[in-house]
Amino acid sequence: MDVLVVGGGITGVSLLHQLRNRANEIVLVERAYIAAGASGRNAGFLLAGVADNYAKAVRTYGRTRARDIWQMTLDNHDMMVEAIAGQPAGYRRLGSATLAAGDEEAGELEESQQLLNEDGFKAKWDGHVLMNPRDGEANPAAIVGALARQSPPGTIREGVSVTAIETGSGSDVLVHADGAECRAGCVILATNAYTPQLLAEIAIQPRRAQMLASAPDAARLSTVPTYSNFGYRYWRQLQTGEVLVGGWRDTAYNVEVGYDERPTDGIQSHLDAQLKRMGAEAPVTHRWAGTMGFTETGLPLVGPVAGMPNVYACAGFNGHGMGFAFISAKQPIDSM
Ligand SMILES: Cc1cc2nc3c(=O)[nH]c(=O)nc-3n(C[C@H](O)[C@H](O)[C@H](O)COP(=O)(O)OP(=O)(O)OC[C@H]3O[C@@H](n4cnc5c(N)ncnc54)[C@H](O)[C@@H]3O)c2cc1C
Repeated sequence: MDVLVVGGGITGVSLLHQLRNRANEIVLVERAYIAAGASGRNAGFLLAGVADNYAKAVRTYGRTRARDIWQMTLDNHDMMVEAIAGQPAGYRRLGSATLAAGDEEAGELEESQQLLNEDGFKAKWDGHVLMNPRDGEANPAAIVGALARQSPPGTIREGVSVTAIETGSGSDVLVHADGAECRAGCVILATNAYTPQLLAEIAIQPRRAQMLASAPDAARLSTVPTYSNFGYRYWRQLQTGEVLVGGWRDTAYNVEVGYDERPTDGIQSHLDAQLKRMGAEAPVTHRWAGTMGFTETGLPLVGPVAGMPNVYACAGFNGHGMGFAFISAKQPIDSM
């Protein structure tokens, strides 16, 4: 085969989309089922920028780079929504609210508004909340499904686990999967947090994130996706009334690591308390956890894997893959 994509989340199906007119034989393998990883477990916030606020991003990456990243994530949003071509995914673009939890965050958010406006982006600070009017929300698993359905029959193989990849003699990559072997002209790892399980040298840290969902609540408790405490806490209410609450891993930072995807009582009690503070009366119907992949730079690792010809990575989305993955998937393909 020409290209093997490993991983069936938003990144894997975005790669299929970008590859659709570029290679003859493309196969995506997913060890469980499409959107089984973080892509089917996330909060569905479609946010511009990196995990940090814009003022922090400018300090970390410099003004020009921070501005380019912001623009890139806005483009990611537009292109991903265009690619699903109106298929139902609970998509709305009413903006997002970032709520200052204290004076330090308020100062940074106020500065973020000034910097964003100077750089030509819309943002409004009212003393407590920074509104980003171009943000949105969607059902992430529905987006993944919509993109997956666009690939020709037979392209996606669920229940296939890649156990090792080898490069060496010849230009093909040797792939071991469930006791069998095959050769691919090129392999792209869309395995986000799980990438070090295949290639330990790739520096991506797995971190757990937890959420809950309520039954539909009759009251309108939240109008737009809301972020707070430097992104560690977040909630939104669906059009149909269900409330999603997630985060609080900063309260158990060193525990919320690794690949264990079971929710814990400690974090879930914080999520329950937030649901109560919002005034929700509907009961909790779902509790879950997922694994995010963090990099040292706070930016995804996208491109060739050092020392492994024809192997690429597109991973490490730092808890913001819905904002980055679709457009990031263009990069390894453009460089092939
Ligand atoms: C609770 C939670 C809330 C979040 N909220 C948001 C949010 O609101 N907005 C946002 O932008 N981001 C959010 N994120 C982050 C976002 O979900 C991820 O950044 C994004 O889904 C990463 O997509 P991915 O396709 O790269 O990885 P994943 O969706 O994790 O997909 C990787 C896939 O690879 C498969 N795989 C791994 N190893 C192998 C192998 N060896 N062989 C075959 N298959 C393999 C896995 O089974 C998995 O399905 C959240 C994450 C969590 C957990």
